[in-house]
Amino acid sequence: MYNKILVAYDGSEHSQRATDAAISLCRGRESICQITLLHVNPLVHYWGGDLIAIDINIEEKINEESMKLLKPAAEKVLHAGIPCNSVIVSGDPALEIYDKAKAEQYDLIVMGSRGLGAFSELVLGSVSHKVAQHAVCPVLIVK
Ligand code: ATP
Ligand code: MG
Ligand code: MG
Repeated sequence: MYNKILVAYDGSEHSQRATDAAISLCRGRESICQITLLHVNPLVHYWGGDLIAIDINIEEKINEESMKLLKPAAEKVLHAGIPCNSVIVSGDPALEIYDKAKAEQYDLIVMGSRGLGAFSELVLGSVSHKVAQHAVCPVLIVK
């Protein structure tokens, strides 16, 4: 069964529905399930070395924003009686998602079919496409 679940969360409506789907998969099994909410901040490239002091503040700001973004989703999971942790990392979103799932042996990745990207005519966003391609565990893509 899918007990250890990784939800990829970018704050989009799709990722909110992915969280709801993960919660409903745990219904009746709250005590043996756990949900991790993962938000990946894409790496930002800066122009020059002069801005290092400012860069540190930017990192802090980004982490603060990420925590704000994850908070309502985490509260929803906890409210459903399911153990939940929130993780924020930097890197390539797809790679961080499927690497974490593999390294920590998650049973399932749950994510949205689309995210915050602008090209809504596409069926799948690039992150969900890449995760579905490379993940070693099942992936539930929520429309
Ligand atoms: P694209 O990013 O390719 O322009 P998109 O934003 O519409 O398109 P994706 O980014 O693939 O689509 O989003 C699909 C799902 O992937 C989201 O619903 C979310 O579950 C997950 N996801 C996307 N970006 C991130 C991220 N930075 N951190 C965590 N999960 C993410
Ligand atoms: Mg996206
Ligand atoms: Mg994108």
